[in-house]
Amino acid sequence: MRRMLTTLAATLALALPAAGRAAWPDRPITLVVPFAAGGPTDVVARIVGEHMSRTLGQQIIVENVAGAGGTTASLRVAQTPPDGYTIEMGHMGTHGAAPGAYPDLKYDPLKDFEPIGLAAGTPIVVVARKDLAPKNLKEFVAYLKTSSEKLNEAHAGTGSVSFTTCSLFNSITGAKPTRVAYRGTGPALNDLVAGQVDYMCDQIVNLVPQIQAGTIKAYAVALPERSPALPNVPTTKEAGLPEFEVTAWNALFAPKGTPKDIIQKLNGALVKALEDQNTRKRLLDLGADLSNKAAVSPDGLRKLVESEVPRWKKVLASAGTSKEAPVKDADPKK
Ligand code: ASP
Repeated sequence: MRRMLTTLAATLALALPAAGRAAWPDRPITLVVPFAAGGPTDVVARIVGEHMSRTLGQQIIVENVAGAGGTTASLRVAQTPPDGYTIEMGHMGTHGAAPGAYPDLKYDPLKDFEPIGLAAGTPIVVVARKDLAPKNLKEFVAYLKTSSEKLNEAHAGTGSVSFTTCSLFNSITGAKPTRVAYRGTGPALNDLVAGQVDYMCDQIVNLVPQIQAGTIKAYAVALPERSPALPNVPTTKEAGLPEFEVTAWNALFAPKGTPKDIIQKLNGALVKALEDQNTRKRLLDLGADLSNKAAVSPDGLRKLVESEVPRWKKVLASAGTSKEAPVKDADPKK
């Protein structure tokens, strides 16, 4: 009997590592961020990833793969072996709006990915360079009616959150700015602070420190209620533009076919990160919205993606897009 057990144990010991599963994760995990370092997706990925790596007992290495509004990286992740060692911090753009923005998109946010869970809701804020003349959103909207063609609007590439949400903003206000594409709103924000572009619609987690420091101007948060992180910034409704209410999100995805038990472990680590007081505080201080608990599960996130793709297809079809300037690469190393 003992002999049999020993043989069985030996067989199992051989079989499990051969299947590559027993010890997952036994080496670092790559977390792909589809935008430049320092931007909102990068910030959320690093905060959440840091705690997840403690739970999983392995390093999580953030890799920034910018380009084409996040779709370059997303396609790459979709085509990566589904072994749990490569995951992506996707968002409302890459896994919601991109199919509406690119008719020939080479991946499907649902069919080519396993949802892991929602990391953070990221409300949208309309911001401008600090010396732009209009003092509030009402004045800005009036100014856009007469002078928008003189303005440069920064965004993170076709299909990104900043691109899609400002497409909506521009269509509501009738603005026709020159649209300048960056490899992420991290570098776009640097140019906004430097006064080289005029305005953008961006995820709050990228903006709070600069708004607090007064290096950029915040016209409104596109939320039904004010953000606790920016109590002095009015909502779009308070500021006279209730039609512009939009919130984005960041969420973790793995390539399709990643084993269920690995998805469960990744989700468990994500849930633990979002329950950790320090991790929560870091995200909340930046204005992240952690109230959507349902979408933190793989199934909940799948439902969110299922509803976002058709929603953004409709919005983008009716918003159209205004003229685009050549891609301005503020981050040539990436
Ligand atoms: N979330 C992107 C970034 O991290 C920007 C965007 O989608 O607008 O840069």
